[in-house]
Amino acid sequence: MGKESSDGIMAIDVRNPRTGRSDYSFEPPSTDDLDELALRLRDGQAVWEAGGLDVRTAALNGWRDAIGMARGEITAALMADTGRRVESEMEVDAALRMIERWCSLAPDLLAGTERRPASIPGIDLEQGMRPYPVAGVISPWNFPLLLALIDAVPALVAGCAVVIKPSEIAPRFIEPLAATVATVPAMENVVAIVAGDGSAGEAIVDRSDVVCFTGSVATGTKIAARAAKRFIPAFLELGGKDPAIVLPSADLDRASSAILWGSTANAGQSCQSIERVYVHESVFDDFVDRLVDKAKSVRLAVPEPDAGDIGPIIAAKQIEVIAAHLQDALARGATAHTGGEIEEHGGGSYLKPTVLTGVTHEMKVMTEETFGPVIPVMSFTDADEAVRLANDTRYGLSGAVFGDADEALGVARRIDAGGISINDAALTALVYDGEKSSFNFSGMGGSRMGPAALRRFGRRQAFLISDAQRPDPWWYPHLR
Ligand code: NAD
Repeated sequence: MGKESSDGIMAIDVRNPRTGRSDYSFEPPSTDDLDELALRLRDGQAVWEAGGLDVRTAALNGWRDAIGMARGEITAALMADTGRRVESEMEVDAALRMIERWCSLAPDLLAGTERRPASIPGIDLEQGMRPYPVAGVISPWNFPLLLALIDAVPALVAGCAVVIKPSEIAPRFIEPLAATVATVPAMENVVAIVAGDGSAGEAIVDRSDVVCFTGSVATGTKIAARAAKRFIPAFLELGGKDPAIVLPSADLDRASSAILWGSTANAGQSCQSIERVYVHESVFDDFVDRLVDKAKSVRLAVPEPDAGDIGPIIAAKQIEVIAAHLQDALARGATAHTGGEIEEHGGGSYLKPTVLTGVTHEMKVMTEETFGPVIPVMSFTDADEAVRLANDTRYGLSGAVFGDADEALGVARRIDAGGISINDAALTALVYDGEKSSFNFSGMGGSRMGPAALRRFGRRQAFLISDAQRPDPWWYPHLR
């Protein structure tokens, strides 16, 4: 905790993942601040909704331009938040594409239906949609900008006002992003980005009409319960333990490259990271040799972000989780072929890609989310066993299958998860077109991708129009 302000609010200190030291702090909002904000957003939303889609997409495209102009400041803040460069630049690009994409898709996706005869003669039906007034968006630290905007942008396009609360672990980008909102007058009263911790998150759930949460299962469980008390929908996108299955028909060169990328991009700190790999026994040794060879060539990005491929472990709490998973696996008999130990460089904590064999489902590394560049590999004898192992989890976010495309698709259809890449890994990080559900404890609520991602922000209205000129109809029997 940092210093207390004159009105009794404690500032929150933020650790720098490259130095391990706190070099930034912010003051969270008071309850009064949030009450005032909620009122302002409610008033602003009424104007935003009434203005219509064209006005909203024009404003959002203006915001997009402002983010593009502030790219340097936003990227620098994201780099300080996360200690890595390439992913920070990719986040800004993805944010720009996301705004453009939803604005161009919205006219079709939000078009109402023409008035038409209903199934009962004498009654017409027209469908409408009213956006939830205020959408609360609560996001994590692993892709701070992207995950702050991934639900906020479709909500805005649909006509909601949005209050975004990014993680207190990576909040530096909020200032430059909020400055871009301030340059678009039409958006000033419909978007607020609030720096705060879990208590601010709770207060936002209490002041929203729909909540979009990305984060851990533990917090998602609390948010679901809080939202249920208010009867507001909670769209939850939570953790994962994504499996990859390598069939005997797979191209092992491709499979080992894709799995290495899918497990180690952003140092494994992605919800759709490949966290466990099942390889057919007939190709197991060959696959592991290729994976280990390739993993050895991946460099830590030290001492500078541009000096290598893998940045620091961003959140201090995650360093402990990764270390505990490694310790548990090695103590129970796993072998680390690469990496295996967290390294300290300049105060930051790093892990080289760590390929493990000799793993079992008794180990944390095969059952709990590690969120680091750890690749445990296990063998299977037939497709039924591979599917059983892949589904032996409380999660169900995404996964991957490698092999002959038809055969791989047949296996993929049996996996209990929402987004399965075939002959590639973690494609849900790139392709946002397909609707996907989160299975089991990986989430709840409508798809955040595909058309449903926009439509879930509207409450449906059915206008049932009776012909007033007709004599009393048959459904008034007591008037006969
Ligand atoms: P977290 O649950 O600790 O925190 C996420 C957010 O919730 C933060 O903004 C935090 O301040 C807020 N929060 C904490 N307590 C709260 C409460 N009681 N009420 C309301 N808000 C509260 O998660 P994290 O450590 O920031 O993120 C890592 C997790 O996010 C991993 O499990 C990862 O898999 C998951 N994740 C999921 C997806 C997905 O799309 N499914 C994407 C990225 C990350």
